[in-house]
Amino acid sequence: MPGPGDVLDLIRERGALTRGEVLEHTGLSRMTVSSRIDALLEAGLLVEQGTDRVTGGRPSRRLEFNLAHGSVVTASVDTTHTTVAITDLAGRIRSERRVDVAVADGPVRTLDAVVDATRALVGSSNGLEGIAAIGISVPGPVDPDTGRPSQPPIMPGWDGYPIPEHLTDALGVPALVANDADAAALGEQRSAHPNSRSLCFIKVSSGIGTGIVLGGQVYRGTDGGAGDIGHVKIAGYDHLVCQCGAHGCLAAVASGRAVARALTDLGKPASSASDVGAYLADGDPDAARLTQQAGRVLGEVVATVVSLLNPAEVVLGGMLASAPLLTGVRETLYPRSLPRATRHLTVSLSTLSQRAATVGLAALVVDREYSPAAVNRALSS
Ligand SMILES: [Zn+2]
Repeated sequence: MPGPGDVLDLIRERGALTRGEVLEHTGLSRMTVSSRIDALLEAGLLVEQGTDRVTGGRPSRRLEFNLAHGSVVTASVDTTHTTVAITDLAGRIRSERRVDVAVADGPVRTLDAVVDATRALVGSSNGLEGIAAIGISVPGPVDPDTGRPSQPPIMPGWDGYPIPEHLTDALGVPALVANDADAAALGEQRSAHPNSRSLCFIKVSSGIGTGIVLGGQVYRGTDGGAGDIGHVKIAGYDHLVCQCGAHGCLAAVASGRAVARALTDLGKPASSASDVGAYLADGDPDAARLTQQAGRVLGEVVATVVSLLNPAEVVLGGMLASAPLLTGVRETLYPRSLPRATRHLTVSLSTLSQRAATVGLAALVVDREYSPAAVNRALSS
């Protein structure tokens, strides 16, 4: 029989419902619905909104998920820095802090810095009370069962590292680990494209990765490797060595690192995707031309992605997300896809940019910590 957690899930999905509507949707008896809702109100998981005005014999007050029931800590680990934030349960950022720790510094230094930043943001006076959990994203595949990085190509020292245990031991709250493109994809879908249930977020920074949202949920793949398109081999580029050690990978041809190297060869020093982003922001013509060319090569692979999944949205993010990248992707994507695969497709640039992962992590944490099973368990103990 549906428990209070299932009633909360229904209300979260629908936004707000009256008691009468909960009755209708669940088919439970009036008494059972009443006891479920009372339990949720008492636990502070629901709030009642609106007036006590009675229409048709029923109070018209609406029940909503209490977005102030707790907070979420998020940490998005990027190649050169990490962003730690506190959000409410809707993913709205309350405070944020950038930590200058690089993924190459290894898991212990990075995670210790995340713990320090979390304590500073929460403030020592009230401890970690009210924090539902911490969600952390990393630039590599994550094993869906253990939350540990799974043979990440650009995260030296992180393979198999027990990230959840490290954070939970230090902070005393549950921890969730996600791939950065997965988190950003969900953030984009929930926040910028709520009416599109399928979305691919393609992150072009130091590497290239894709986050896939299908039916409103992140699709991770059997080993957490879904969307890791950066190491697809591109014909004709065997002379370029990828960070993974192989030759001719998409990331070796079209990533921020690849464009930075090409710019350096032209006498414009650049060592990272951020450097390329800075040239693009300045309107540098060489950076624009090389980024557009990178977009063309990327578009060839995105054509396969689009033909396979037929998403409603392709969102380009990361340091290279720019008009030239978008133009380049469109130049090869459309000619290489059937009209049916792209008829209702929107290809756009990320509007949330760096914050997409933060919003997505908050959504992942809330979906897990306030799932029917979690709430039923919490309220029965
Ligand atoms: Zn590679």
